[in-house]
Amino acid sequence: MTDRLYYHDSFLYNFDAEVRSVVETPRPALILDRTAFYPTSGGQIHDTGWLISGQEKHHVTEVVDAEDGQVVHYLEAPLKDVKPGSRIRGELDPTRRRDHMQQHSAQHVLSAAFVRLFNMPTVSFHMADDYCSIDLKIDDLDTSSLSKDQIESAEHLANEIVLENRAVDVRFVTRDEAEKLGLRKLPPTERDELRLIDIRDFDLTACGGTHVSNTGQIGSILLRKSEKVRHGYRVEFVAGGRAISTARRDFSALTEAAVLFSAHIYDVPQQARKSLDEIKSLRKQREQSQDELAAAQAAALLAETPESHDRKLVVRTFSDRDLNFLKLLAQKLTRQSPAVIALLATESPQPALVFAQSAGQPHDMGALLKETMAKLGGRGGGSKDLAQGGAPQSAGLAAALAAAAQSLAS
Ligand SMILES: [Zn+2]
Repeated sequence: MTDRLYYHDSFLYNFDAEVRSVVETPRPALILDRTAFYPTSGGQIHDTGWLISGQEKHHVTEVVDAEDGQVVHYLEAPLKDVKPGSRIRGELDPTRRRDHMQQHSAQHVLSAAFVRLFNMPTVSFHMADDYCSIDLKIDDLDTSSLSKDQIESAEHLANEIVLENRAVDVRFVTRDEAEKLGLRKLPPTERDELRLIDIRDFDLTACGGTHVSNTGQIGSILLRKSEKVRHGYRVEFVAGGRAISTARRDFSALTEAAVLFSAHIYDVPQQARKSLDEIKSLRKQREQSQDELAAAQAAALLAETPESHDRKLVVRTFSDRDLNFLKLLAQKLTRQSPAVIALLATESPQPALVFAQSAGQPHDMGALLKETMAKLGGRGGGSKDLAQGGAPQSAGLAAALAAAAQSLAS
């Protein structure tokens, strides 16, 4: 078993140790007699830092809790001349350790706040590189939920506890003693000795993590997203330095949005809503205009097209109409007159074709379009009366339409 120095002092960033074993594959690693490095466990992610032997110093990239109670330190590269019995020096990345202490202690405060205020126990804790989350268990999810007011109340109480700068003590007790203490969370292990984190007169729970020594060191706790999960709600939070950097990022994003609207940041939602309403209304107006334009254009095309073989054959290539307009126009053409065949194409924004005929006409537009597309190297298809397709380029569209028209005449 590795002697875990962090159990007694979370602020110990440098230590000396003796090498117990050297691992070479698949990744270089060292096992020491004692360590201040925290291995990933209990929701908290591992420390990083350096192991130093003489003049050599290598980065500790990952720290893992092995099943036999040993802590494994993975290194970016092997330390030369280090063997069992060698003396070694360890240095933690203090910024990362302090961040983890802030997040984990914030979690204890927050979990206790949700229990005290709403009797919602925390069933799991997750620490990521940029945010943390707790899962709250809610008994009757069909009738209960986690409201915005509840989130704000829990955040308020948690920050009161931070401001009161309460002592955070570490205690070791036997399992029997622990059972009598009314812990917030009692782990299901068989271990005889339990490590307790005691936030004075607020929270007492069993935990192996690294914690601040006074709640003031947490700095602040900011609750963010909450979402329904299987047995309750997941609440994301950031504490300490993360709360500052997250608030900074939020402010930058909001400021960028506010500049676009030439508005104050607090007016961004209102401005965004206004813009969306405008877009909706403009889209409606555009649809109406397109419809009117298609109807007028269809009437003009029909007027200028002479009738032959008892029907009118409209063949037209546009330079800049979209596929939707082409379909609309084909629809108008074939409905405005009982005997019309329309072979339409557009060159941009996307080269496309639409073939249509009035109901009752004898041809097969789907087959004709497929045939034309095969020549153009595009794809498309449709029914007997209406077909559409996209071409890979605009070159050759007009010639393809002329050939299709020719085949209808023969
Ligand atoms: Zn904990």
